[in-house]
Amino acid sequence: MQRRVQPTSEAIRAGNRARVVDILRRSGSATRAELINGTGLSRATVSSLIGELADRGLVSEYQQPAADSPGRPPTRLALNRAAGLAIAVDVGVRHVAVAVGDLSRSVLAERWVSLPQGHSAQRGTHIVMRSIETTLAEAEADRDQVVGAAISIAAPIAPDSGRFLVPGVLPGWNGPELAEQISRTWDIPAAVENDANLGALGESAAAGPHGQDLLYVKLASRVGLGIAFGSAIYRGRDGYAGELGHVTADPDGPTCWCGRRGCLELYAGAEGMLARLAGRGIHLGDVSELIQRAQAGDAAVLAVIEDGTRRLARALGTLALVLNPSVIALGGELTALGALLLDPVHAELAAVPFGSPVAVRTSALGPRASLMGALALVLSESSRFTDQSSAPATPDSGRAAASSAVPSRSHHHRSTVS
Ligand SMILES: [Zn+2]
Repeated sequence: MQRRVQPTSEAIRAGNRARVVDILRRSGSATRAELINGTGLSRATVSSLIGELADRGLVSEYQQPAADSPGRPPTRLALNRAAGLAIAVDVGVRHVAVAVGDLSRSVLAERWVSLPQGHSAQRGTHIVMRSIETTLAEAEADRDQVVGAAISIAAPIAPDSGRFLVPGVLPGWNGPELAEQISRTWDIPAAVENDANLGALGESAAAGPHGQDLLYVKLASRVGLGIAFGSAIYRGRDGYAGELGHVTADPDGPTCWCGRRGCLELYAGAEGMLARLAGRGIHLGDVSELIQRAQAGDAAVLAVIEDGTRRLARALGTLALVLNPSVIALGGELTALGALLLDPVHAELAAVPFGSPVAVRTSALGPRASLMGALALVLSESSRFTDQSSAPATPDSGRAAASSAVPSRSHHHRSTVS
């Protein structure tokens, strides 16, 4: 059914309701005063909208006791699971992780499954689909409650098509195909996003107000960077913003898989470190052996690590000067190097001549950063993932009528990846 959109009082009310819901989605919970400030609406309008959302079972009130202030704590409002649930998927080289969360940022169920060595993309996709099904069941989720899914994959991704700009570290995996399959199966919009971008968003959301301008550096087999500025992902025009691993560290260095010479990740990524050691006749099995040897004080291994972290530190010093972030969070397997990694980075950033020193630390979320970022994407980019609050309030109109409103689940379903 096509309906002419007119600026009726109901349309204005729906717009105001969306603003209230948007703040609750972004911040997890809010007081009435925060909603009034955030929306610019009157106290009476906010109260009336909250009353309507509460009547429909979408919002609950609770009191959070404040230790430092006397008197009755203000009532906080949060969206409850009737407003919608989000699916987060993280596809790594050796694992698949799935989380189901509600729109107040609580994780209801989470599941990690190992991927077999040398698995096919088809087998991997099957594991993802089965894991989503199991995790939704564990969360006791009704499939009508799910508002969207976000998938984290280690590849640079074009923002408009969801296609990989270059093949990722997962041979045969194709971002759009997995998203389309999830979208079709659960009738929800599904987005695919770079793992470092989601790591940045997850860390930024976890850090609260201090994490508004945050860089997340993923140091694993390769080197990735996510930029979350103003608590939103910065992707750039073509989607490769943050390809820190391919900044030139040595113009005369070896050829990188990207086609250029001496890229930073050939020195600061685990794959590159292992290759450099192999070139010197030292053949190590994997990252964990590299870290063990370093901790045992193996001089040849330490030399390669120190050279890599020094080059990384210099690149981060440049980034700090260009972007002036509030926090740089280091994630990925190589963070197990501890002081070997953090000390040179701290020293380089302490030498930045302006402002107060940039806070550098290891990721607060650890291996869950990208997965929590995928949940945060569904919450923060709410125009892509419609919640139940946009459905008509009248009991006789139901979900079928909701599909004529914009945006709707059914409309998103066709375009799937965005
Ligand atoms: Zn490169």
